[in-house]
Amino acid sequence: MLFKVRVNHDVERDYIKRKINDRLDILRPIYEVIVLKSSCPLPQIIRLFTSWYNTVMKRAKVNNWLSTKVEPQESEKHGRGVFAVSDIQKDEVIAVFGGHVMTREERNRLPENVGCLALGIDDDLFIGPMTLEETDDADWFNHSCYPNAGLWGQIMLVAMSEINKGEEVTFDYCMSCSQKGQERILFTCDCKSPNCRKKITNQDWKRPDLQKKYKGYFSPFVQRNIDNLK
Ligand SMILES: [Zn+2]
Repeated sequence: MLFKVRVNHDVERDYIKRKINDRLDILRPIYEVIVLKSSCPLPQIIRLFTSWYNTVMKRAKVNNWLSTKVEPQESEKHGRGVFAVSDIQKDEVIAVFGGHVMTREERNRLPENVGCLALGIDDDLFIGPMTLEETDDADWFNHSCYPNAGLWGQIMLVAMSEINKGEEVTFDYCMSCSQKGQERILFTCDCKSPNCRKKITNQDWKRPDLQKKYKGYFSPFVQRNIDNLK
């Protein structure tokens, strides 16, 4: 294609040069188009702008942190999950969840396949991605009724027991859910553990057996609500 661009604007050029001098790499591809390649074929422009866009998106992306001891793999039980690729010690940090902090209402407005990835961090607050593009490997930890990981604080996932290489890392979603009001089934579970609850509800945090089993591994707001029941 013979499409070409010509950009000759002194003010913009000087401004961009200054930014480049400030070592803002983010503007380098634009600088290349405007300053170095004032006449340049379209495919090259597309490549440069794609590179620029990816750089911007990478910087703008909200990231989770994931231990190098785990990685996403296909899960027999769940389709996709996060698995240990090395042995993990009890209480070792496996992931730290990041993202946008949003209210329940904002979370509910997201597409279901994105909203379901948000983690509860307080009664009406969640943290997580707001678009599919913002998801990453740490968004795929599955629920299990017999989990090997739990929460420390609102956003840190740690091993509740030793986890062997090859095991799927899971946590019980009731650790970060303590809705009040009417009981509602959140999803049906087929985790295949002998104690599978089958129907996971928004009221599971009220169960004394789970309160005992996960003590120390509930998100603080859930623990606060449990303490307030007494
Ligand atoms: Zn289950």
